[in-house]
Amino acid sequence: MGFVPISIDKYIKNHLESNPSENEKDLRKHLYSALEDSKKGVKCSCGNDIWVIGSAFAGNSCFTCITGESQFDSDYEIDLAIKKNDNK
Ligand SMILES: [Zn+2]
Repeated sequence: MGFVPISIDKYIKNHLESNPSENEKDLRKHLYSALEDSKKGVKCSCGNDIWVIGSAFAGNSCFTCITGESQFDSDYEIDLAIKKNDNK
């Protein structure tokens, strides 16, 4: 169980295929900004690590606060954000 790692480029490509009306530039900007915050150690208001992909859309929050679910097993997360967590 855990997040499925995905690169930013691949995620953007997948996301735009299912959401063709969204702006790639904005999406990329929001993803990088959430990733930077994650690297800086920004936490969700509940104290958990932020979920970069969800935070790109909903603001910096963890998976549970964004989705209302405590379990994840097939949800994507940016690979660079996951590596950071493994180094702890
Ligand atoms: Zn939270």
